[in-house]
Amino acid sequence: MAEEKYEHKEVELKWQKYWAYNQIFKAIDQDKRPKFYAMDMFAYPSGDGLHTGHPRSYTATDIFARYYRMKGYNVMRPVGWDAFGLPAENYAIKKGVHPSQTTKDNIANFTRQVKAFGFAYDWDREVNTSDSNYYKWTQWIFKVLYDNGYAYQKEAYANWCSGCQTVLANEQVNDGKCDRCGTQVEQKKLKQWFFRIRILPKSCWKD
Ligand SMILES: [Zn+2]
Repeated sequence: MAEEKYEHKEVELKWQKYWAYNQIFKAIDQDKRPKFYAMDMFAYPSGDGLHTGHPRSYTATDIFARYYRMKGYNVMRPVGWDAFGLPAENYAIKKGVHPSQTTKDNIANFTRQVKAFGFAYDWDREVNTSDSNYYKWTQWIFKVLYDNGYAYQKEAYANWCSGCQTVLANEQVNDGKCDRCGTQVEQKKLKQWFFRIRILPKSCWKD
């Protein structure tokens, strides 16, 4: 008897092509089925390839999304790249290449890798946060908030890393140090943007 072997490259490629050709994972806009929305946190294209944390979390969401699709739901599972953040900027600085180029190159390789995993994404709904077709909407919503008095500036203390020359979220500070460069984080008073995200009557506003 011939030795049986799982030729993963052959088998997986065959089914990935079948899924893509038949648009198995496409979310339909007008549909009678109940809706299910499954989105992974979009990856930062801030390295030249995925790290193990990416497929770990994407696999979990994928199982969920496929389960609901098989239960008869119209599943929307978009894919995208969070390309405007500090990690993408730091990567470009490290490489000495303009971030528009490093981001483009990294997204191309991330896409190749993510597709090879065969995740059940609707690639027609791919977004890239540094694409003007996407960020025109973040600009639009900011303007709506600003024009209605919900976005305002004031001075407040923030985590400041003198190494990275930027403010850091609390999650980016470990034991008082910057989690990217290890510099001691200081509290610096800076003019910052704030949102009135709780809907209170105007008489309750403090600033
Ligand atoms: Zn730093």
